[in-house]
Amino acid sequence: MLDGKVALVTGGTRGIGLATARALAGAGATVVLTGRDEAKAKEAAAAAGAASGLALDVTDAKAVSTLVRGVAKEHGKLDIVVANAGIMEDALLGMIREELVDTTLSTNVAGTLHTVQAAARAMMRKKASPAGDRGTSAGAIVVLASIVGEHGSAGQTVYAASKAAVANIARSAAKELGRSGIRVNAVAPGVIDTDLTSGLTEEAKAENIGKTPLGRLGTPEDVANAIRFLVSDDASFITGQVLGIDGGLVL
Ligand code: NAD
Repeated sequence: MLDGKVALVTGGTRGIGLATARALAGAGATVVLTGRDEAKAKEAAAAAGAASGLALDVTDAKAVSTLVRGVAKEHGKLDIVVANAGIMEDALLGMIREELVDTTLSTNVAGTLHTVQAAARAMMRKKASPAGDRGTSAGAIVVLASIVGEHGSAGQTVYAASKAAVANIARSAAKELGRSGIRVNAVAPGVIDTDLTSGLTEEAKAENIGKTPLGRLGTPEDVANAIRFLVSDDASFITGQVLGIDGGLVL
């Protein structure tokens, strides 16, 4: 399905990012995953069947740009980018500290934006090459939004705002990049069983499951499989979409 494609996944050391790296590699792509810690990134790359694991903090625009350019140079091109790195910290309105706003927005919003910008530059360079691939997809980008970015969530105002922004990065970038043959979509997971949601009490998990028609929490693989579809040529006429992967959860 993804034979011959070169893919980059940010925040790929665990959870949805790791499952996505594994799914893309399993479908035949050459995958580079990144993590904030180099040793963890290398370990995760080996576990996922990825080609390499590199250190990257997505809040650092220059580092993102340098890394993405380096990956495209090393592998001759860049076809797929999954901007997955993200953080979530809950706080009721009255408890929101400025530091929480800064870290959440710089990681989720600016980090995603840096990644999409760098991906677009690398993919457009490939499109402009005289290789004759005009008309075929020059690249596919997926960003990680969230169900709470679409509907809001008590105690998650900052995170929900950041994920609404992420969804609109996808919608806007899709409009800008479509004529260059680059597709940009977002996935909006519901409650997925990862380290990010490990702080949920059993009561809160049960409550979410109760509101989910499919009657369970999501797995990282549920999200990874949808991302694998969105970056594949099977999704060649899909762009600017925010795909819910939530078992039908109604918040
Ligand atoms: P996770 O905490 O298990 O993994 C997040 C990854 O992002 C980690 O590898 C972490 O090191 C990395 N990361 C965080 N900040 C970074 C930074 N500044 N630079 C580089 N990497 C950084 O979380 P997850 O559940 O796998 O979530 C992955 C994405 O999916 C996130 O964007 C999250 O907001 C989103 N999401 C998750 C859920 C869920 O229920 N788990 C729901 C909706 C959306």
